[in-house]
Amino acid sequence: MAVATTEQSAVDAVPKGLFIGGSWRDATGGGTLSVEDPSTGTELTQVADATVDDAKAALTAASEAGAEMAALPSRERGEILRRAYDEIVERADELALLMTLEMGKPVAESKAEILYAADFLHWFSGEAMRITGDFRMNEKGTARVLVQRQPVGPCLFITPWNFPMAMGTRKIGPAIAAGCTMVVKPAKQTPLSMLALADIVDRAGLPKGALNVVTAKSSGSVMEPLIRDPRTRKLSFTGSTEVGKVLIEQSAEQVLRVSMELGGNAPFLVFEDADLDAAVEGAMIAKMRNGGEACTSANRFHVHESVADAFAEKLAEKMGAMQVGRGTEEGVTLGPLIDDDQRGKVAELVDEAVSRGAKVLCGGSRVDGAGYFYEPTVLAGVPGDARVFTEEIFGPVAPVTTFSSDDEAIAAANRTEYGLVAYVYTRDVKRAFRVIDALETGMIGLNQGLVSNAGAPFGGVKQSGFGREGGFEGIDEYLETKYVAMAL
Ligand code: NAP
Repeated sequence: MAVATTEQSAVDAVPKGLFIGGSWRDATGGGTLSVEDPSTGTELTQVADATVDDAKAALTAASEAGAEMAALPSRERGEILRRAYDEIVERADELALLMTLEMGKPVAESKAEILYAADFLHWFSGEAMRITGDFRMNEKGTARVLVQRQPVGPCLFITPWNFPMAMGTRKIGPAIAAGCTMVVKPAKQTPLSMLALADIVDRAGLPKGALNVVTAKSSGSVMEPLIRDPRTRKLSFTGSTEVGKVLIEQSAEQVLRVSMELGGNAPFLVFEDADLDAAVEGAMIAKMRNGGEACTSANRFHVHESVADAFAEKLAEKMGAMQVGRGTEEGVTLGPLIDDDQRGKVAELVDEAVSRGAKVLCGGSRVDGAGYFYEPTVLAGVPGDARVFTEEIFGPVAPVTTFSSDDEAIAAANRTEYGLVAYVYTRDVKRAFRVIDALETGMIGLNQGLVSNAGAPFGGVKQSGFGREGGFEGIDEYLETKYVAMAL
């Protein structure tokens, strides 16, 4: 396949239709939805806008492919994933350019996501062959117990715009490994990366109908009938807690298996014994990866009062030196926000903090001109109950506050309905484990600002959701346990 190198050719190389039953087709009635470049606000292209009938056809295809997929030998499922992995890695530059065009982040960051996304296919290509059951005696020694594991069945996947490919492969990889079929609906802002992925997985040899992709303007009305359809057995959603709650309610009707990867409000704790330069480096990753538009993004910085000023100044120096611009341009380290609504929300949170006495150490404003740019911003002296601390910012803003004891830091870190990830910087191992044990999150970065890794169980507690993606745990979401009582 030809390698696309220009912006136009990267966009042109992607199929724009709905992928149903192994073929690309237009939406019934020919409707389309516009995909925009957030760095210019102009249209990149249009993709199909699925109707409810199209979505139902996708579920029919997934349902009809179920038996073939479940019967496919695990080695073959693994090899399909491995072939898809190889193609993604081979075409990483082109796919990164495509992702930057629809999502905005710098190309180097898009490439990192493409490779991270591919890692899930690689990881689960191995896991496909390690699905086990077990055989045991019952506790009285009078009967034999056989435990086997089977694919859960047709799945629905709904993914967000912030990691347009990785949030898909974290679900598609384990689902294929387990022998499930699926209907995927990407976010309307970033459908192109998912369409490119579907094309790759199809050419890797997946049975027709096992993977279906529908793109739609009106996600709620198109997906709800599928969630309520008795043929669906599983819903896995990544997105906001607000939408997640609606989907959990809808899933109750068919008692669906549900995985929820929802919002976060990650605390970043810096203790007085921390290596401050390492903490600032980690903060740059935890805060600025994906321009702050990550569920794992450090949302608030709690720093011991003895080092808070020094930490905030160093962080402001680094953040202030970032180069803001179109993600396709050389040297750019921060792209635009996804749209004007998101930029408006970020501006509102900063303005509220400033009106309540926060000091702006760098940034603090929108960038004039085309696109949805916002300056990298560090705020010091932020009141603990400012909205910028209590709400998910999803932008390049780092609010800093202080604590004076470990207990105060732990209490502040846990004062949120979210529980996805926390970051802890300390050189004291005893303190580290005391804090780790007390934090109410599904993941912790200890002296590091990045937790994402295909071989690790990613996921949250509290209103950040339930279920895990990646690691040995990731495939469990797609397997049912069947126990056979044997009278021999
Ligand atoms: P969102 O508004 O909840 O949307 C996520 C997905 O749900 C999109 O595909 C969206 O489609 C769809 N959707 C929205 N309303 C729906 C409905 N009523 N029924 C069915 N589908 C619906 O979230 P977002 O703004 O795209 O993403 C940001 C959020 O995702 C943040 O809160 C972030 O923390 C969270 N996130 C969590 C993780 C994690 O692993 N925990 C990872 C990444 C992101 P349309 O866009 O087409 O409307």
